Amino acid sequence: MGLPQNISVAGRAQGVFAGERFQSVAIVGIVVSASIVVFLFDPATSSFYGKCPFHWLTGLHCPGCGTLRASHQLLHLNVAAAFRFNALTVLSAPFLMYALASRASIGLRGKPLPAWFVPARLIWGLFMIILVFWFLRNIPQYPFSLLAPAG
Ligand SMILES: [Zn+2]
Repeated sequence: MGLPQNISVAGRAQGVFAGERFQSVAIVGIVVSASIVVFLFDPATSSFYGKCPFHWLTGLHCPGCGTLRASHQLLHLNVAAAFRFNALTVLSAPFLMYALASRASIGLRGKPLPAWFVPARLIWGLFMIILVFWFLRNIPQYPFSLLAPAG
């Protein structure tokens, strides 16, 4: 990323750099370790996770509120329960899992999984979806209240 374009392309043609392999192993290790903690200790009943600072300050739900509780439910394969905590987390989980699998592939094989071409318009669209989700989940009226974290 920080390299000049021609060096980056030449390095990519032969696989990834050693530093990127180590970085990928570290990222996968951190995510897997954090997932084990979230799997074992339910954020809905454990106090050591702390509170969302945005929610604590404003009383409103940020787009990420409920993500840990949703992740706990997803790790236990309770998809419906996960939706009640954060629908965006559930919808983005397959893409995040693919990104993690690609990181694992870099760490193990030195090559990422096939990359998708993501047009800039789609990225702006996702950003808008997050903003709309953020707005709608703070409307205390059915059906928008379904988007707020349960509990
Ligand atoms: Zn939050």
